Amino acid sequence: MKKHPNESNLVWLITSKDKLQVLSDCKDPKWKNKYIASTDCGVNGLGTGYRHDSITFKRVMYTLDVRKPKVLFVNFREPDFSGHKSDWNGYIRGIQQTDSMVHEIWKFIENDPYYQGKTAMFITNDHGRHLDGVSNGYVSHGCNCEGCRRIHLWSFGPDFKQGAYLNQAAELIDVNATVGELLQLHSLKSNGRVLWELFQ
Ligand SMILES: [Zn+2]
Ligand SMILES: [Zn+2]
Repeated sequence: MKKHPNESNLVWLITSKDKLQVLSDCKDPKWKNKYIASTDCGVNGLGTGYRHDSITFKRVMYTLDVRKPKVLFVNFREPDFSGHKSDWNGYIRGIQQTDSMVHEIWKFIENDPYYQGKTAMFITNDHGRHLDGVSNGYVSHGCNCEGCRRIHLWSFGPDFKQGAYLNQAAELIDVNATVGELLQLHSLKSNGRVLWELFQ
């Protein structure tokens, strides 16, 4: 597998869920197995199971501090993990702990000379959960109900409107297009639309 010719630290994928290691590559034959991201996923890579978010958080902070990637993709397993266990208290705690880790990451970015003032951060969820009364409620997800389909996106950074709240239709694939615009990746083939409404 080819890494980037001179910078293996350019793009990092750090995830609590091992299965997300697949995101380091793509299916397009032109790019498959080429210039893939460096990965640190799950207990010990694909097929080894999920790890605790506190481990992922430590690896993220180390990576930002020492490896200085230009693109970093992070996944925390909470609150999805506790939701599936039908553990309501764990679910709420998972939201709070993830929120506080994300805050620590952003504080680091704002205070680090390499990143401050020129870095964008997106926080999103890849799905919601069933509404009360749909199937087993918050425990699962994956249907077309409003709860499953409604997701959040927070965008932080110098390019974006500050303190604005927008409530309009967008999809995850639009984040991909927006990141492509921020990085000026003109060769990116995305079916999403750039979320211009986020920009100042
Ligand atoms: Zn899930
Ligand atoms: Zn649903």
